Amino acid sequence: MAKITRSLSAKKPSVPSVPKKPAKKAAKKAARKAAKAPPKPGKKSAKPRPWTPAEIHEAFSRFRKANPEPKGELEHLNPYTLLVAVVLSAQATDAGVNKATRTLFAVADTPEKMLALGEEKVREYIKTVGLYRNKAKNVIALSEKLIAEFGGEVPRTRAEIETLPGAGRKTANVVLNMAYGEHTMAVDTHVFRVGNRTGLAPGNTPLEVELGLEKVIPPEFMLHAHHWLILHGRYTCLARKPRCEVCLINDLCRWPEKTV
Ligand code: SF4
Repeated sequence: MAKITRSLSAKKPSVPSVPKKPAKKAAKKAARKAAKAPPKPGKKSAKPRPWTPAEIHEAFSRFRKANPEPKGELEHLNPYTLLVAVVLSAQATDAGVNKATRTLFAVADTPEKMLALGEEKVREYIKTVGLYRNKAKNVIALSEKLIAEFGGEVPRTRAEIETLPGAGRKTANVVLNMAYGEHTMAVDTHVFRVGNRTGLAPGNTPLEVELGLEKVIPPEFMLHAHHWLILHGRYTCLARKPRCEVCLINDLCRWPEKTV
């Protein structure tokens, strides 16, 4: 292999050196100002430079290296209990849902058993979870529908899952990804924030962010991308105080207010 050596006699260019730090600071300050200032009516706001495919590959390679097999934090035993757990998790924490479902799933891990238990008892099991009355109703109704229309199994298409009481697009995407290994992107509050802040997939709605992420993330990362982004938002890119100093992708992130 050819060895590359530097010539000792090479002269340095006689251009006066520009102090780097103040320029960097000024650029950051300007970017912050631009991000805070509301766009003037009729004028388009300055958009951050889009990520290049190589940068996106680099970011997800780092996520993969740090956590090759990321796992969701909702406890479940099969596709059905996963579906129920996701329905219960709306506006509730995973830890709170797990606490309730551990005892519930021990006695009812199929739609048939859930129906046998009945709405009142389901309500008792999940009463520590927010909106539990309505959620108990939905768990019973979706179990009935699974038995009546899907042979007691959780269906494998988004359109079918979305017909179940209490299940929307996000629920369908989580179930398809975690239970059936589909390359779906469920956008919760964390993924929405990370997609927008980093500039990976800016969007005004979860659907816009979902479609944006699906478009830019290479297929080789899609199976786990949803979990990497959720975990990133939950533990690093926090809503109020992002931990930019320990962030794996802080050099790539486009957020003008990042603290590194
Ligand atoms: S650098 Fe900061 S804002 Fe950007 S992704 Fe990392 S934690 Fe979030």
